[in-house]
Amino acid sequence: MAEQIPAAAASGKLVIRNVGLMLSGDIACPILDADTIVCIDGRIAAVGRAADLDTGRPTTLIDAHGGAVCPGLIDSHVHPVAGDWTPRQNQIGWIESTLHGGVTTMISAGEVHMPGRPRDIVGLKAFAISAQRAFAAFRPGGVKVIAGAPCIEPGMVEEDFRELAAAGVTLLGEVGLGGVKDGPSARRMVEWARKYGIRSTIHTGGPSIPGSGLIDKDVVLEADTDVVGHINGGHTALPDDQLRCICESCTRGLELVHNGNERSALFTLRTARELGQLERIILGTDGPAGSGVQPLGILRMVAMLSSLGDVPAELAFCFATGNTARMRALDCGLIAEGYAADFVFLDKAQHSGGRNLLDSVRLGDLPGIGMTVIDGIVRTGRSRNTPPAETIPEIVV
Ligand SMILES: [Zn+2]
Repeated sequence: MAEQIPAAAASGKLVIRNVGLMLSGDIACPILDADTIVCIDGRIAAVGRAADLDTGRPTTLIDAHGGAVCPGLIDSHVHPVAGDWTPRQNQIGWIESTLHGGVTTMISAGEVHMPGRPRDIVGLKAFAISAQRAFAAFRPGGVKVIAGAPCIEPGMVEEDFRELAAAGVTLLGEVGLGGVKDGPSARRMVEWARKYGIRSTIHTGGPSIPGSGLIDKDVVLEADTDVVGHINGGHTALPDDQLRCICESCTRGLELVHNGNERSALFTLRTARELGQLERIILGTDGPAGSGVQPLGILRMVAMLSSLGDVPAELAFCFATGNTARMRALDCGLIAEGYAADFVFLDKAQHSGGRNLLDSVRLGDLPGIGMTVIDGIVRTGRSRNTPPAETIPEIVV
């Protein structure tokens, strides 16, 4: 059921015990030597071994029964419009369904599927502010949707960005989906956005749907957005030499999306690894899109990159958690003191050929999800969308 009111953080003490594998989300240290998490009022207060922590008198006690816990997954690239409805495929419930794929935070790359989306400057600003407000006040299933991402249009001036930031807008939609498609104009506006604390991304590659356009490596590098949005195309990717040039010529985030070219995603991954810069890789779905909505899209990216890209599964999970959180300055995505108590409980799917969760993902199988928690509140039990997990956590208290 979608919640009608903002999901407040839990009040009280949440203890999670008997965690068999603690995935931190931190690519520098992806597996923690810990079996217990203590959360107070929706925030992680301590992580470690049960014997070393104060686990007494919990408000909620979850026994992981030896399964894995990972930070809630972050989808770095979605296109929400209105609550849990998308006009792109005329579906309802897609965000809540994605929670069943382990995603607890989504980042809008622009509310571009809005029928009749305003393109005039006052209209696009009002629309972005409205989207920011609406998704801050309404969390489908409890999922945090950070929205209100205007697509820049010719004629915008510095004052527009100052005004948007003052009104609470923190993101730009994909540069290139609006009327600004040239490098110099994009760079000027991206710099204004950055000056006022608004983070930016860009549509990389060929047109996604009729009405969008080509953005090649020269525009990407000149615009210098914080994230190179769907570097593997959405759907149509740039040629490999351009992808390599982007990877080598800047230090910005390299976003790989489900709704893109899988071969190009693997090429980018290999290039980033050669550069010793896997901390730049972040994951999105780019849904809803022409290819539909992808409730398991982030898990599918993790399994695809791990199995075909030869990346240890514990690192691939960091692409969808800590890497994104760091790049986007979020207070989630890591299992560490002070971070939001957003978790997904995982185990290998029943009858996977893998020896354990990490081995099964490395073999290309999707994990099973047994529970999700956002801000210290249990949001779902066993996922209705993943294959069933071998172990399922239990709410003891
Ligand atoms: Zn795009």
